[in-house]
Amino acid sequence: MNRFGFKRILQAFLLSVLIITAAASASGDLLVHFIDVGQGDSELVQFNGTNILIDGGTRDMGPVVESYLREHGVSSLALVVATHPHEDHIGGLLAVLNDFPVGQVLDSGRAHTSQTYENFLTVIDQKDIPFAVAERGQTIDIDPRIKIEVLSPPATSFPDDLNQNSIVLKVTYNKVSFLLTGDAGFEAEDSIMAAGYDLKSTVLKVGHHGSSAASSSAFLSRVMPSVSIIEVGAGNDYGHPSQRTLNALQSIGSKIYRTDTNGNILVTTDGQSYDVTTEKQSWSTASTATQATASTVTWPASQDTKATSSTTTTAKSYDGPFVGSLKSDKYHYPSCQWAQKIKPSNEIWFSSSADARAHGYVPCGVCHPP
Ligand SMILES: [Zn+2]
Ligand SMILES: [Zn+2]
Repeated sequence: MNRFGFKRILQAFLLSVLIITAAASASGDLLVHFIDVGQGDSELVQFNGTNILIDGGTRDMGPVVESYLREHGVSSLALVVATHPHEDHIGGLLAVLNDFPVGQVLDSGRAHTSQTYENFLTVIDQKDIPFAVAERGQTIDIDPRIKIEVLSPPATSFPDDLNQNSIVLKVTYNKVSFLLTGDAGFEAEDSIMAAGYDLKSTVLKVGHHGSSAASSSAFLSRVMPSVSIIEVGAGNDYGHPSQRTLNALQSIGSKIYRTDTNGNILVTTDGQSYDVTTEKQSWSTASTATQATASTVTWPASQDTKATSSTTTTAKSYDGPFVGSLKSDKYHYPSCQWAQKIKPSNEIWFSSSADARAHGYVPCGVCHPP
């Protein structure tokens, strides 16, 4: 128990999420955004005016996540999920928890001795945000049409491994489902399989940034995702994603999207079919399409689900935020490998390309911002 234990919700099997936002739209679409936060994870789930944020990237990505939320009409969050206390997952949540009304925080329950985790708990305490600990078997109620199950961590958590204790969620909307795994690896996957869940999912957020210690063949053969999304930073120090994981995903015929090459990735579904929209064309598919033209690819109905899908790659109107360094005159997409190398104390953020240019900055020659 940590010092915030008194805030834990004791009814273990139902997390009732307070719906703060009035239904902004009565749309029947479920939107799951995979936000490009470089080397880290951040996902936004939106349904009928309810917003759930899962992780927020590193601390320096806080402003990026906040801008993204505002651009997508988010003024409050019913729930913030911290899959586990590593900085590339909770760092950016500090800003979000400070600046947005939050109905509840769901935590893995594993304390971490880092300053970031201390700060995370302090913000929750200062803002008096209801705090609950996730446990296998819970469900999260946002709408009778959407089922959100907590598949992990189990009641008896894995000793000394924050990644294995990641909160793993399965979000199901009729025929279309999402498996969101944080940094869970083989040990957690084995435990989830042993618990007997139906893991079959349309979309998999690949575990641990595509590390070679996650996404076992046995696990993937149970999930059989039509679409796999890897949240990963270009040129990261960890060698993510691993070739083993990429091969394993390809061998099951999963279509792979990556935030390092595709930027922000959005999956929209009405529960029957789904669309994948990416901010940038992946380098591997961009060769035949001109940069300025959006391309739409319609996928055949997948062999194993009744859902149909199409993909829209939009070489589009992303116009901020951009980041520069106080030590140079270049501005970058936040996901650019050069942007990642800027020390947080030297960062300068621009709301748009016009804003950057007005400050005398010029576009980076590597990531080519507008
Ligand atoms: Zn991570
Ligand atoms: Zn981690």
